[in-house]
Amino acid sequence: MLDSKSTKQAELKTDKKDQDSASKGVTTPESDKKGNEKPEALAAKLFTGNLMDWSQISATLSSNAKVCKVVAENPEYLNKIIDCEDAAAKPAINTSLDHLVDHINDQATMVKVFTKRFGVNVSDGAVQSDTKTMEINGLKGSYKVLQRLPEQHVQRLKALNGRNETYKSSSGTTWRAEVIAVDYDKKNMDIVESGDYTDKDDAMVGMNMFDTTLAHEVGHVADTMAFQFSRDPEFLKISDWTEYVYDRTGVARQLVDDMVANMTDPLVGPFDDAELEAAKTAAASIIKRQRPNSSQDIIVEAFENAGLGAGGNQGLLTAKAQQVTQTTLFQHIKSSFGNSFCWMNECFSYLPHRQYHQGYLGRSWWSYKNVARTEIKKNSRYQFRDPGEDYAELYATYFMGTPEKRKEIEPKRLDWFERTVVPQVDNGQQQQQQAQQPQAAQAAQQSKKK
Ligand SMILES: [Zn+2]
Repeated sequence: MLDSKSTKQAELKTDKKDQDSASKGVTTPESDKKGNEKPEALAAKLFTGNLMDWSQISATLSSNAKVCKVVAENPEYLNKIIDCEDAAAKPAINTSLDHLVDHINDQATMVKVFTKRFGVNVSDGAVQSDTKTMEINGLKGSYKVLQRLPEQHVQRLKALNGRNETYKSSSGTTWRAEVIAVDYDKKNMDIVESGDYTDKDDAMVGMNMFDTTLAHEVGHVADTMAFQFSRDPEFLKISDWTEYVYDRTGVARQLVDDMVANMTDPLVGPFDDAELEAAKTAAASIIKRQRPNSSQDIIVEAFENAGLGAGGNQGLLTAKAQQVTQTTLFQHIKSSFGNSFCWMNECFSYLPHRQYHQGYLGRSWWSYKNVARTEIKKNSRYQFRDPGEDYAELYATYFMGTPEKRKEIEPKRLDWFERTVVPQVDNGQQQQQQAQQPQAAQAAQQSKKK
């Protein structure tokens, strides 16, 4: 038998009358002495029959935590929400779930609620074979993060898993641009950014690390899969990001020439012009072939190719190559590959205007102007890895930040973000869901990487 919406509304009107009479001190099985209808009775009324009044359900759950608790603990009620496939009801269902989530206390139910709410696969190994379904604290924490992010960004996320649940901090990784794994401390979801990836005045100091880590990764997913905001020329201009696609013909050499032009004493030694030219060729080859640890062999090769083989005297040639490896240019290249993390501190004194490094091993080299780091307030040190990270850190600071925290974002970035990214968020949820920054828990020095 089907309930109709109007019948249910009529029942609710009757309830009001019951309350009025109950307020005179009459206690009934459905109401307490004060005349408030008991949560069990309210829940039963909402979930009786097969035709749900979703607006009534979401309104009640939004305003009555006691009913939420009853519904969250009753599989029969909860399944009616989870099993509903009516697209028109989805907004009300989402609102309902948002109010129920705090009352969910078991893993299996939490998985169902999470999957229903976001359509993201959280099953074991959904991301990689070594990843698994997050335990309940991770799922709840993730729920609260995704809830605050633009819906059309979250929709780009296909799967979310946990990896190391005793990791004393938070660290996230995005794979194939659409799935995310997070390492986190399940017993301490309140760890805040306290210095390993930030300087003391950075905007991200004090922000919850789990929240910012996951938001950062979702920022990547939406950026890479759809929006390409991190490639917007106006955004790149803020730090004056310049890309060197290391394996594109001629680009490695261009990078070497630019480094030489910007470097204090790049190639000091007893070198003649032909040797300097061969050294630059070798430098480009090291970058292009990604072989920082065999620089001496590559220099020898370049010298021989240029007809500078020291008349076949291998000892002389090796000695010359070794001198070349000791120059500032070659030392810098060696310490600036993607696995060196030099962007953590950077601003090498021998590069007084611009820095040069590879963001990730196997990907582009980048340059930015020093003043972007030294004179403009930054979100974190991590943003200087590459523009994608610059964007993801900004994204996390903005969407996980309180209104006060947002004011700390450097004005050029904030202005660009609010003109370019925020207007694309058509559901207005970024205003609606005022960020609730958890009270900054005192956290030990932690580290993260992503
Ligand atoms: Zn990242």
